[in-house]
Amino acid sequence: MAKQQSFADKAAKAAQMKGAKCPVCGTIFQPLLTVSSEPSKTSGSVKFNERRVQVCKCNEKAIYN
Ligand SMILES: [Zn+2]
Repeated sequence: MAKQQSFADKAAKAAQMKGAKCPVCGTIFQPLLTVSSEPSKTSGSVKFNERRVQVCKCNEKAIYN
């Protein structure tokens, strides 16, 4: 049972670290990788920007629309 206990502890710790809650709506943030393309002014080629956003109920509609 010692192993099970430590696994539960680790899982609980991981959940605490990853599961940051939004102080406004109380939803646990879901990390989401968004990619936006921007035409570069200098070269004329398209540049891709990767951005990590934390999604909660406050901004999910703006992100998923
Ligand atoms: Zn929120």
